[in-house]
Amino acid sequence: MIIVGGGLAGLRAAIEASALVDTAVISRVHPLRSHTKAAQGGINAALGNAEGGRDDTPDKHAFDTIKGSDFLADQDAAELMTRMAPGCIFEFEHWGCAFSRTEEGKIAQRPFGGAGFPRTCYGADRTGLYLLQTVYEQSVKRNIKEYLEYFVTSLIIDEASCKGVIALNIRTGELVPIAAKATILATGGAAWTYSISTNSMINTGNGMTIAYRAGMPLKDMEFIQFHPTGLYPNGILITEGARGEGGYLVNAKGERFMERYAPKAMELAPRDIVSRSIQKEIDEGRAFENAYVHLDLRHLGKEKIMTRLPGIREICLLFAGLDPIDKPIPIRPAAHYTMGGIDCNLNCETPLRGLYAAGECACVSVHGANRLGGNSLLDCVVFGKVAGDKAAKFAGSLSGGRDEALIQSFLEREQKRVEAFQKGNGSEEPTALRDDVRLILTQKVGMFRSGTDLEEALKQIRKLRDRFSRLRPISVDKVFNLDLIRTFEVEAMLELGEIITASALARKESRGAHVRLDFPQRDDEHFLKHTLTHYTPEGPRLDYSDVKITRYKPEARKY
Ligand SMILES: Cc1cc2nc3c(=O)[nH]c(=O)nc-3n(C[C@H](O)[C@H](O)[C@H](O)COP(=O)(O)OP(=O)(O)OC[C@H]3O[C@@H](n4cnc5c(N)ncnc54)[C@H](O)[C@@H]3O)c2cc1C
Repeated sequence: MIIVGGGLAGLRAAIEASALVDTAVISRVHPLRSHTKAAQGGINAALGNAEGGRDDTPDKHAFDTIKGSDFLADQDAAELMTRMAPGCIFEFEHWGCAFSRTEEGKIAQRPFGGAGFPRTCYGADRTGLYLLQTVYEQSVKRNIKEYLEYFVTSLIIDEASCKGVIALNIRTGELVPIAAKATILATGGAAWTYSISTNSMINTGNGMTIAYRAGMPLKDMEFIQFHPTGLYPNGILITEGARGEGGYLVNAKGERFMERYAPKAMELAPRDIVSRSIQKEIDEGRAFENAYVHLDLRHLGKEKIMTRLPGIREICLLFAGLDPIDKPIPIRPAAHYTMGGIDCNLNCETPLRGLYAAGECACVSVHGANRLGGNSLLDCVVFGKVAGDKAAKFAGSLSGGRDEALIQSFLEREQKRVEAFQKGNGSEEPTALRDDVRLILTQKVGMFRSGTDLEEALKQIRKLRDRFSRLRPISVDKVFNLDLIRTFEVEAMLELGEIITASALARKESRGAHVRLDFPQRDDEHFLKHTLTHYTPEGPRLDYSDVKITRYKPEARKY
């Protein structure tokens, strides 16, 4: 079987699957360069190790997750994730993951937004790097086959199931089929579709559109998380751990303004609330240079900053020319995370037999309308493990060989697609279309949305899609043809832009990260449901599915 993606979800899946069947990981970059590496603050599990956190339980973690999601998470999925969390963390501990420790030698835990207890396990502010390094070592130990620097462009499917993928070997320029009995997509998120983003430029969501074009619905794509503290002006992430360690948010009048918006939780309210509060301070003229507020860490002292937040200090020194030990950090919200993704169930199965999804590209859904910090790395390790197990068992249950005719026909189809790009049909520059769609999403489909803006955005994105059909000829170079890869990515970003906007326009309520100025209330009667977008050549078709409620009746959120 194959796994597309060498990030945390993909490698965790590979470890599980390789115990049962021959497994290969396909990745466009070396696994250790996957975006997981950038994750800073930590990973949640109700271990009860921290002072003030002894009474924590998986149930309380589930409730915080569901409440944080503004009751759009599937409650059975949240319960499964939080129940499996402690076991998954101990697995990493036994594999040698370099978690920070309490004085008694237990895994240290810090407070994070929207959590009733300090339950975020961390390795200083480099948690993603340490987790990724750990799973990578385990994958090397198991001799898991790797196709590195292969860019997957589409799935091979017959009428009933997924049979593998077509990929571009980036080093040689050759398109190759990679057949498999089961395929897991673990291709990461799409928040780089916004121009102010904490994500790296490979987070274009192309894996989501690969599934979408093959007929898989994308779920809840209107819910884009804006992280409160992107470094001004470039958006590089300053971890929530900085507030978890006690950092304050302060406006140009010197006020700790979170008092106005979340008097109890203050800086540790869920991300949607803190981001909106910061943006309001900016919009209402209480920001520095009308553009940013301060994250002040100075009172934490040098020692705490150097030991708990060394990476943040380095980012500030390198990218803002300031030392947070002496100076406050200028920040503003930045697009950060895709709560939605490829529709899949608790077993990570998509509606297509043999196709599974895990990690940020998937939507099980545990994050609903707003993800809690520290729950995404957890989503990757829990559902990576589940996906690996289920997909491997499915692959192991199949007999029979490859359908060469089918594989050949998909390969030829993809070769024609590349040839069409390379022949060109006009003079449009793909990267110009990419920059435009990123700007439109930021300006019109951002934190505060309105029907008028969304309709305008949809119109403009459709124009860009039309212009995409008149591209200049794309490079025919063979080796590291980034021009060709960018073109695939731009196509995906335009498609996702349309999906995000159409979903946001149809959701006439405010919930979690999705705020409609023209529909400011949450409307459980009409919108306590998941949005599903389906591919049609004319644009996305929308329908809805029920949210699974187990024990927690939706209530108003107060922090
Ligand atoms: C700056 C930052 C900090 C964060 N900090 C935290 C945190 O502290 N706690 C937390 O819980 N969450 C955090 N998150 C979120 C979390 O890090 C991500 O959601 C998570 O790491 C995603 O992991 P993944 O395995 O799904 O994808 P990724 O790690 O992004 O991996 C995707 C993989 O897919 C491959 N790929 C993609 N497309 C293709 C293709 N077409 N063909 C072949 N390969 C492909 C890539 O090469 C890569 O290997 C943070 C996010 C950011 C941006």
